[in-house]
Amino acid sequence: MPHCPICGVELVLGSSGHLDRWSCSAGHGLAMTLSESYERLQEDEIALLWDLARDSSDGPLLSPFDGTPMKRFSMPYDDDEVQGGHALGFVEIDVDLDNQFIWFDAGELDALPLDRPDGEPSAEELAKVAEIAAQFGAGIEAAARERDDDDLSEKLYRRVARNPEALRTLDRVGRGLTAY
Ligand SMILES: [Zn+2]
Repeated sequence: MPHCPICGVELVLGSSGHLDRWSCSAGHGLAMTLSESYERLQEDEIALLWDLARDSSDGPLLSPFDGTPMKRFSMPYDDDEVQGGHALGFVEIDVDLDNQFIWFDAGELDALPLDRPDGEPSAEELAKVAEIAAQFGAGIEAAARERDDDDLSEKLYRRVARNPEALRTLDRVGRGLTAY
C-alpha cells in the first residue's frame, strides 16, 4: 500500500468522477498514475509535466510507492491543450518517474484547468490502432495492464486514435517491445 509522503498514513484508493486516485485521509494530498492523469489534466500539461520531471532534481518528498525521492519542479499551466503559449500560473508538482505517479499536495490539483472533452475517435482511427496493436501481438496491452486496470487498453486505444503523434509513438513502442 502506498503511504502519504507527508504524514506516512496509508493512502486510500478512491475516485472522483472517472478519475481514480490515492488520497491521504488527513488531507495532505493525492497521487495518481500517468494513465489516470488523462482523466483530469490537459494533454499539453501532461506532456510538459513529464519533460520537466526528467530534467528536475530530487525534491524533499519520498515516493508513496517505493520511498525513493520524487522529482520536484514548478509547472506552468494554461487553459488550452496546445503546447506553449502564455502561462496562467504555476503549480509545484512531485513526480515518481520510475513508477509513473504524480503527487499533488492539497490544493495543487485544484489549480490546474480541467481536461477538455475530446471528440470520439472515428471507426477508421480505432481500426488503425487495432491494426498496429495486432501487428505487435499482445505486448502493448500486457505492458499496459501491468501498470493499471483492465479498461486501460480501451482508454489507450481511444487516446492513441485521437492523437497522430501518439500513434507514431505506439508504433515505435510496439517495435521496441517485440525487438527481443
Ligand atoms: Zn498525510
